[in-house]
Amino acid sequence: MRVPFLDLRTQYAALREEILVALDRLCSQASFTLGAEVEAFEREFAEFSGLPFAVAVNSGTSALHLALLAAGVGPGDEVITTSNTFIATVEAIRYTGARPVFADIDPRTANLDPKQAEGTITPRTRAILPVHLYGRPAAMDAFEELARRHGIALIEDACQAHGARYHGRPVGAFSLASAFSFYPTKNLGAYGEGGALLTADEAVAEMVRSLRNHGQSSRYVHERIGYNYRMEAFQAGVLRVKIRWLERWNEYRRRIGALYRERLSEARLDMPVDEPETYPVYHAFAVYVDERDKVREKLAEKGIDTALYYPEPLHFQRACSELGYGPGSLPATERACQRVLCLPISPELTTEQAEYVADCLVGIVGKKS
Ligand SMILES: *Cc1c(COP(=O)(O)O)cnc(C)c1O
Repeated sequence: MRVPFLDLRTQYAALREEILVALDRLCSQASFTLGAEVEAFEREFAEFSGLPFAVAVNSGTSALHLALLAAGVGPGDEVITTSNTFIATVEAIRYTGARPVFADIDPRTANLDPKQAEGTITPRTRAILPVHLYGRPAAMDAFEELARRHGIALIEDACQAHGARYHGRPVGAFSLASAFSFYPTKNLGAYGEGGALLTADEAVAEMVRSLRNHGQSSRYVHERIGYNYRMEAFQAGVLRVKIRWLERWNEYRRRIGALYRERLSEARLDMPVDEPETYPVYHAFAVYVDERDKVREKLAEKGIDTALYYPEPLHFQRACSELGYGPGSLPATERACQRVLCLPISPELTTEQAEYVADCLVGIVGKKS
C-alpha cells in the first residue's frame, strides 16, 4: 500500500468549487492584501480559538516576531525556549536582538520542561516561549505560574496547535500573545504563506496591527518603524473556506492518533505522553525508536512516507553556534532528535492506511518483551 505523508491535492479536490469562488470574488473586487477578507478571517479565527483578538500576518515566523516585540523583548534580553523545535522559534528571538536561552525538554512529553526552564532564569530573562510541539499543549499551568512568580512575559509558539486545549482552555489563552502558522502543511494551511497572533489584550492587538503594516496608525501616519507583514487577501479567502473544516479535521487527527496509540502500545518504541489535561490536535504523530534511520528505510520499502521533526536540535545548528551549546548540554532534546520518527497523520489519511502503517511498524521494531 502506498501511504504519502500528506496529500493536499485530495483535499483541494473536495474544496475546489468554494475556493475558486472565493478567489474569483477577490480578483473581481481587486482586493489583494489586508482589507475586508482578512478582517473577516481574523474574526473567524478569533472565534474559533476562543480569544477576543486575532491579527493576521504573512507567516508564523512574523507572528512570533511581533509577539515578542509586543512583550517588550529587545537587545540585552534573554528568552527561554526549547531546542526541540523549528528554527523559526529561535529566529524570531534573534530578530528582536535578544538572546535565546535553551532549556531541556521533559523526555515524557517532548515539550519544554518548566523545571528546566526555571533553572535558566537570570535577571536578564524577559520572556518564556514554550512550543506546543506536534499540536500537543505544553505544561501551561506551570509556565503561567513561573512567569507570574518571576514577573516575566509568557509567549506561546502555537504554530502547530490550532484548536488545541489545556484544561479546556484554548492554547493562546495563557500568554500575552501567541503565534500561529498557516504554512500549507499545518492543520489550517493557506495556499502560500500565512500566520496570525491571538491575544486577549486590546492594546497588544492594536500595536501588532500597526507593526505588521509599516507602523501605521492611519494611512501615511507612522507611529513607529514597522514591517511589511501583511496577510494577502487570497490567503484569507482560502483560510475562510478551510477553517469551517478545522474542528472536524482535528477530531479526525485525534482518532488516527488514538488508533496509532492502541496499535503501537505493545511495540518496541516510545510515544510522547499526552497528559490528561491536554487536548492535542496532532499536527504530527511522533514515535521514538532505536536505529531510527533503518526503521525509516524499512517503512519506505513498504511504501510509507515518514518525516523527522526534528532530526537535529537547534543548538547543534551552525546558525546557533554562537550561543555556545555543546553536545550533551541538553541530553533529553538530543536523544529525542536521534530517535524521533513522525508517522503520516492527516484528514486525508484513511483508517486502512493508518492500520497498515502501525502494523508495518510493529513488524519492523517488534514487540516489547
Ligand atoms: C511552522 C512553524 C513555525 C513558522 O511558521 P511559518 O509560517 O513557516 O513562518 C514556527 N514554529 C513552529 C513550531 C512551526 O511548526
